[in-house]
Amino acid sequence: MNAVVVGSVAATTVSQMEWIMNNRSNDRRDMSRRGVLVCAALAIGAAAASAVSPAAAQQKIGQADAKYQPGPKNNRRCSGCYNFQPPGACKFVQGDISPDGWCQLFVPKT
Ligand code: SF4
Repeated sequence: MNAVVVGSVAATTVSQMEWIMNNRSNDRRDMSRRGVLVCAALAIGAAAASAVSPAAAQQKIGQADAKYQPGPKNNRRCSGCYNFQPPGACKFVQGDISPDGWCQLFVPKT
């Protein structure tokens, strides 16, 4: 039963978890207060770990990692990608980017 609570803990506040623990009609009432607090701490830690610093957000991946190629793929090319920064850069991929190139991070402009 604890696994269910851990899986949903990110969307659950400590007070909600305490209510669950104290509600006698709930089959989770056997969960200890310590267990509730440990779950809350894990959720906070997970949220902090997933936060991206501005410096990290600026980092780009290598062309090889993005599977960049200098030519288009199935009529998809960088010039038609939302991430393209004319005249020859990309928001997410390092180095010179050809308007006619393509990579697996392609996102079509709308
Ligand atoms: S296709 Fe890839 S390399 Fe080209 S602009 Fe889009 S994300 Fe950047």
